[in-house]
Amino acid sequence: MPMSSIDVLIKDVRIVACDADNTVIDRGYLAVRGGKTDAFGPMDDGMVPAHAAEVIDGTGLTVLPGLVNAHMHFHYRRLGGPVGPNILGPVALDALKSTRTAFNLLREGVTSVRDLGHNDDSRLHVRDAIRDGVMVGPRATVSGAAIGMSYGHAYFVAESVATLDGLVETIRRQAHEGADLIKIIASNEDLPHPPGDELTVPWFSAKAVQVAVETAHECGLPIAAHANGSRALERCIEAGVDTIEHGIYLSADHASAMAERGIALTPTLSGFFENSREFWGRSWQPRYAALWNVHQRTIGNAVDAGVLIGTGTDTLGTVAQEAWLLHKYGGASRAAALAAATRNGAQIVRQGAGVGTLTPGTRADLVLVEGAPDRDLLDLGRTRYTFLAGRCFTRRELGKLIPGHQFFVDELDGPDALPSSARAGRDENAVGTGGLLRVSAGC
Ligand SMILES: [Zn+2]
Repeated sequence: MPMSSIDVLIKDVRIVACDADNTVIDRGYLAVRGGKTDAFGPMDDGMVPAHAAEVIDGTGLTVLPGLVNAHMHFHYRRLGGPVGPNILGPVALDALKSTRTAFNLLREGVTSVRDLGHNDDSRLHVRDAIRDGVMVGPRATVSGAAIGMSYGHAYFVAESVATLDGLVETIRRQAHEGADLIKIIASNEDLPHPPGDELTVPWFSAKAVQVAVETAHECGLPIAAHANGSRALERCIEAGVDTIEHGIYLSADHASAMAERGIALTPTLSGFFENSREFWGRSWQPRYAALWNVHQRTIGNAVDAGVLIGTGTDTLGTVAQEAWLLHKYGGASRAAALAAATRNGAQIVRQGAGVGTLTPGTRADLVLVEGAPDRDLLDLGRTRYTFLAGRCFTRRELGKLIPGHQFFVDELDGPDALPSSARAGRDENAVGTGGLLRVSAGC
């Protein structure tokens, strides 16, 4: 191989390929050439390239595919305080906040995302700006504004429709405007509920869900459904949505029907976990705390049934936290949790073959983290380098360009687990996993 052909060679690194065989190599190398993963293998296989333009010493690090955040919102991420001023800003400000999110997601090792909506079109432009090289950020798949029926959940950031004709019209318009997928809000968690009832009610009729699915698919788009209660889940599964978002009251029967029909789940455990904490100062905290109590008991149904699960953080969590919670509460093996954060998430965001696994010849979207995430999932949060199509970013570089997101530390780690500089507020060199925080020492 010519001397100049390898752009980056990572040596003496732990490799977690996140492929179907869950390949792990204790001490290996990975070569990047022309924006693609050229080759990887054990250090002693006799194939390690002799020369490269840049060599990274991977001692103490693990390389794995870039992480996938399959449910997030660019304009509104890891912001504390009252929702109104933070979530309903001018379009230009939303775009700037989205830019900060894009940088911070790279700091977290995230190279592919799915944005599930806001009531302005900033995320469409953010997606295009990243694609066209106007700015750097994870590759984005974005929905139109989440579509709700009148007076539903999160109506203030949704696009509400009142009739089935309005539903069809809105989906067709969003497809025309360039949405990559359709998002509907099929349940409502904002109403008071009698004790003993589910903390949610269905907000789309069975007919409305069916019309939404048919129309989206006729437009050539997948459809995601925010669905939490039993009846909403039944309607969405029956109608054949492509992904269920959250799925709080998911039963074993729902889960087996989803597995049978190939419907994926983005549980956003970390979003509910974080929203249940008073730290963020959000008015809906008590409601989320109650929902989180249910969610942590039902997520195992999806894991047990073999539903395709992808990591998604919604407005607050992190992918590292999501994988850890999937393992802790869902009973997912560490390998399965890593798959959710990589190859499963890649199926959900639909950004092409080779995304989500280490595969020679495919785009070099990679992350290098400290430690061994196949042994301790929280090591996913200890990002050192993120590669986008072979282009390398260090977390420290990105931290100099833009403020980090807020994070907090709580009792799950204990105050002694952290350096004092990382215990509260903002720290440019810390990537928070919320209550499950690991701080990188190296960059
Ligand atoms: Zn969301």
